[in-house]
Amino acid sequence: MNPRIIFHIDMDAFFASIEILRNPSLKGKPVIVGGSPDKRGVVSTCSYEARTYGVHSAMSLFEAKRKCPHAIFLEGDYTLYREYSSKVMKIFSEYSPLLEMVSIDEAYLDVSFLKNDPTLSSKQYGRALKEAVLQRTGLTCSIGIASNKLIAKVASSRAKPNGLYEIPAGEEAAFLATLPIGAIPGIGSKTEKSLLEDHIYTIADLQEMGLETLIDRYGTRGYYFYLAAQGIDKRPVDGEEYFPKSIGAETTFETDLTDSAILLEVLLELVQKVCRRLKKHQTRTRGFSLKLRYSDFRTITRSRLLFSHTQDEQTIWEEARDFFLKIHIKETPLRLIGISLEKLSDGYWQPTLWDWEQAPS
Ligand SMILES: [Mg+2]
Repeated sequence: MNPRIIFHIDMDAFFASIEILRNPSLKGKPVIVGGSPDKRGVVSTCSYEARTYGVHSAMSLFEAKRKCPHAIFLEGDYTLYREYSSKVMKIFSEYSPLLEMVSIDEAYLDVSFLKNDPTLSSKQYGRALKEAVLQRTGLTCSIGIASNKLIAKVASSRAKPNGLYEIPAGEEAAFLATLPIGAIPGIGSKTEKSLLEDHIYTIADLQEMGLETLIDRYGTRGYYFYLAAQGIDKRPVDGEEYFPKSIGAETTFETDLTDSAILLEVLLELVQKVCRRLKKHQTRTRGFSLKLRYSDFRTITRSRLLFSHTQDEQTIWEEARDFFLKIHIKETPLRLIGISLEKLSDGYWQPTLWDWEQAPS
């Protein structure tokens, strides 16, 4: 098969870097975004200076304060971060129309068309993209380049910060063999622990195990471990393909409605309904779309991405309300309103039936 060329682009310390742009006196200091350390909560992003003290994302703010008492703690301005996110995604999209935004500061880009141009290497192209992002936003990013999404993602984490790292096609398994099992996306500390207990320490150890043994021991996850350890990942760059599920609800009114207060009440009911189903399915959402159909049957559907996965009804409601007020054409009678929760997932990877069907024999 003709190998693809995939970029995984990840902004460096995104929220913290935006705060430093806004207030240059923070430059060179440990900056932690997430809120005040005397409140319950976790680190959302921290600058590389803070990381040298052992602070990392998802650590409790209390712990972060203990590790780095002189850090500057900031609340986080998610409206501003979203604006920057749209700016960088716009730039990414100029480098390939095949773009999959995976989070507020992270995207995959399929740039396989580069193979048709012998004068331009993927590294040169990546450097040009990095330069454009820096020139137009003042921010740096890191890019992993590989023949598939999985390897590109592992490579970008090795490129951080402000780097570019390419794994040539054919060298995927050899590259992975040098890494600890925790380097595989989706292997969190819990899974890592159970693998360590089974004396699997490195990806090389995983590579030596047969598919059957892994499936016997770990079920479907074992199949993922097998594919991931070999560096096999056939997922296309396409958000819909990766997160195919959505949970939606909509209401058509008996008579068209214009009163915003009533419309918001209806929207709240819809949000409550989809959130109940979200909890029932034990999953979380990273984005939603709103559908509005006006009395003249004109229909608009607009999507918003949340900055992290959530199951919290209040958060989803506030986002939905805010977004509705933004996109709704006021005083125009509506005949239908709908919401669909999208990007449902708990982790980076969920093996699907599709993967099983592609299983190597
Ligand atoms: Mg990032």
